[in-house]
Amino acid sequence: MDSTEQKIIQRVEEHRDEIVAFARDIFHHAELGFKEYRTAGKFRELLEGRVDRVEDGLALTGVKGYLNENKKDHFSLALLGEMDALKIPSYRDANPETGGAHCCGHHAQLAGVAGALLALSDPEIAQKLDGQVVFFAVPAEEYGEAEFKNELIRQGKITYGGGKCELIRIGAFDGVDAAIAHHIGVEGLSVGSGSNNGFVAKVITLKGKSAHAAAAPEKGVNALSAASLGLQALGLNRETFRDEDSVRVHPIITKGGDLVNVVPEEVVLETLVRGRTKEAFSDAAAKTDRSFKAGAYALGAGYEIVTAPGYLPTLPQDFPPELVEAVTEAAGRPPHIISPAMHSAGSTDVGDVQHLLPVLTFRTGGASGGLHQTSFRIDDEDEAYVLTAKIFAVLAYRLLKDGAALGRQLKDSYRPVFRSKEEYIEFLDGFRSVERG
Ligand SMILES: [Zn+2]
Ligand SMILES: [Zn+2]
Repeated sequence: MDSTEQKIIQRVEEHRDEIVAFARDIFHHAELGFKEYRTAGKFRELLEGRVDRVEDGLALTGVKGYLNENKKDHFSLALLGEMDALKIPSYRDANPETGGAHCCGHHAQLAGVAGALLALSDPEIAQKLDGQVVFFAVPAEEYGEAEFKNELIRQGKITYGGGKCELIRIGAFDGVDAAIAHHIGVEGLSVGSGSNNGFVAKVITLKGKSAHAAAAPEKGVNALSAASLGLQALGLNRETFRDEDSVRVHPIITKGGDLVNVVPEEVVLETLVRGRTKEAFSDAAAKTDRSFKAGAYALGAGYEIVTAPGYLPTLPQDFPPELVEAVTEAAGRPPHIISPAMHSAGSTDVGDVQHLLPVLTFRTGGASGGLHQTSFRIDDEDEAYVLTAKIFAVLAYRLLKDGAALGRQLKDSYRPVFRSKEEYIEFLDGFRSVERG
């Protein structure tokens, strides 16, 4: 560890209480995707006066702080911190106003980026960075509330339901050469990433006809029965999903009827349809559509299926040995190295960014229970927040020191799937459709 790295670690430690307080504040005021206004405001407050320029309102709530903007043409590195929470109102620390719960620990990412900001913006340290650092608070990673997102799309406020997808579209990743992402985990410190499922998002509406539920049900068309049959047909299709495709289809009913006395006239479901490849999730998406059309047909109901692009599958990304060494030194112990062959059935819009530029991912521990579960807890704030800040900051320094030699090497050896943002947008738009019958 050189003297600048020692200084970085020291600065993060000096700001320990501030970093922990920031993390706790975000944790206790959890907000859902594209609604993270308070969270974004808190991040912005921290940026003010510490960076050259701040931009906000990106994809509704995204915030960027630019440090060393005069070196942006040399290299530009983004440190990504997701802002959004899940909706789990029964969680003991859920936000009573929003039902939001940070059971995916995104507040730890944001605290890590905030802590890295407090260290790297020290003028002596900033001067040693041969490139720009973008402290980037990003919205809406959890793809929930598909109907809300479709409404934002209808209003022209967004085009894509994923925060990073939308940020790519509006050009917020233009000029960024590489990015670093973090996630908290219950399995401790690790670096590198395997693959994740991609998906499309569907809002499925079954349209029936109201009638007196007891006196004259024969005059109605029961949309809930159509939906139930659709769910069963989808269930029967599951034996055709190949294990290696890692397909996941997990609908919820967001509207099951209006009044118990009335035959349900309209039933609405949301689902994500996930798979390891575009072919896998497209196949499962076609089977999902067929299932609900069959339910509608059997009951004499109508349907509307609105499909929106979700996330692309993530791409395996190795962690350069020099950076593994940096993490080891910052943590005082070596990280577990994730095999590129590892696959998760979950999804993240980090994969979308990876289709255009390299994204290095690391994980810290300090949490227990399970992600997306009410058992989720932060047990060790120094590991979850402070170590995350140290690693973000030290990785940024290693990538940018000596004329950003390592950053350039990472960028030059990377082969993006898409050559331009426009290609990405065209590909994503291919997943959009509305079907009615
Ligand atoms: Zn999550
Ligand atoms: Zn997450």
